[in-house]
Amino acid sequence: STSRFEPITISSSQQQTKDHFLIPNHYQDCVSTVLISHGMIMDRVQKLAADIRAAYTGKTIHLLCVLKGGSAFFQDLQVCLRNFHQFSKQESIPFTFDFIRAKSYAGTESTGTVKVSGCDLEKLKGKHVLLVEDIVDTGTTMSYLIPLLATYNPASLKVTSLLEKRTPRSCGFKADFVGFSVPDEFVIGYCLDYNDAFRDMQHICVISKTGIEKYKD
Ligand code: 5GP
Repeated sequence: STSRFEPITISSSQQQTKDHFLIPNHYQDCVSTVLISHGMIMDRVQKLAADIRAAYTGKTIHLLCVLKGGSAFFQDLQVCLRNFHQFSKQESIPFTFDFIRAKSYAGTESTGTVKVSGCDLEKLKGKHVLLVEDIVDTGTTMSYLIPLLATYNPASLKVTSLLEKRTPRSCGFKADFVGFSVPDEFVIGYCLDYNDAFRDMQHICVISKTGIEKYKD
């Protein structure tokens, strides 16, 4: 994509002391800092929804949520898109959705291979597919998924990702609608997990050494 709206850049120095936020008791020692508070996520998702809405005028969007990490973002995004239907003077942008499973991580390490399951890909034919992802790190997952999905002949194929990581390991893949650019840290919360823990935390945080030890597989 040539002319995307750029994400908000969160620098390493912007990390907030966790004491300033409510952190679940069961994760107190497992969180190092708060990177993006839940309020900031919600405000940014509203703007992403508006950008997405404007890009799909006259079309029906088929949201394809990448499980499990993308599910909180997907949920809040679809609430925003649904709320636009209330403004009767705006052209309404209908949407449908489905879920896909893509797994490339083991613990805090990218494995380099991607496993896909969960959705009948034949149904994507002729649809304006918008993949909804939690984070683009190396870009391996998207670089694998996009050519695969393209073989099922969607009318268009774009990606929205809440986060993208600034990492030298990036393969260069850029999503079309991105919420935040984050430093090269392993982040958790708002459905982003470490071995399935931390999905039940509101804020996006940096994991601590204790957290890595405690939830080791
Ligand atoms: P990629 O294929 O771009 O390297 O990684 C994409 C997937 O790896 C994401 O969908 C996410 O599931 C996982 N991932 C990458 N970085 C992080 C991270 O910092 N925290 C968490 N929880 N998952 C990550």
